[in-house]
Amino acid sequence: MTQRIVFFSGGVGSWAAAKRVVARFGAANTTLLFTDTRMEDEDLYRFLSEASANVGARLVVIAEGRTPWEVFFDRRFLGNSRADPCSETLKRKLADRWLDANCDPANTVCYVGIDWTEQHRIDRLAPRKLPWVFEAPMCEPPYLDKHGMLLWLKRDGIRPPRLYEMGFAHNNCGGFCVKAGQGHFANLLRAMPCRYAFHEEKEQAIRRFLGKDISILKDGLTLKDLRKKIENRGETDLFEIGGCGCFVDETEAA
Ligand code: SF4
Repeated sequence: MTQRIVFFSGGVGSWAAAKRVVARFGAANTTLLFTDTRMEDEDLYRFLSEASANVGARLVVIAEGRTPWEVFFDRRFLGNSRADPCSETLKRKLADRWLDANCDPANTVCYVGIDWTEQHRIDRLAPRKLPWVFEAPMCEPPYLDKHGMLLWLKRDGIRPPRLYEMGFAHNNCGGFCVKAGQGHFANLLRAMPCRYAFHEEKEQAIRRFLGKDISILKDGLTLKDLRKKIENRGETDLFEIGGCGCFVDETEAA
């Protein structure tokens, strides 16, 4: 019997993908796999519980145990848009180990929540993951964009993850992401100033720890610099949101 593993991210895309998988193949051999970075938004767990119950398949939650910041300090490397040791360690390699221990590539199909607007991501991911078979049900017709998936979610009686309502493009790492741009962090500062302050201090701490002039954002702009710029109404690139695809975009640290 074919095992069907949906990489359940806590976002609407992977919920919609799981719905299509279960509609096509049933829930009995479908598993929803969530990798917890231990830095998730508290509402993610509410969404995970409601969304998995709605799909009707088994939910498996795994965690490496560290947070992204603990990985950065341990590896003496601050993640950024070009290198993401956090998702490499806490998501991709962890999920790979779980697949190796629990499934056989000969009778397993894995699914991700990539949609038709991001076809290039599954085109890159699928050959890289061989012999595991990876598919993206939301790249297939009927085509739905994120707005359409959110309407579907609401029709099914599930409240979207609160981070979406707060203006975030994803529901990962509690609104934080080392791949994010100025616009994303400006939204974090506006919507959750205490959480921004936590990450700002962590970035300062790792700069002191490594004795290096490094930053998450491009061009040496620290989160402290960005906050001051915003407070002083300086010029910021609010359209630089950045991309976060923990499972699908490998930009690993050396
Ligand atoms: S969401 Fe961003 S910070 Fe969190 S694990 Fe993924 S790449 Fe790292």
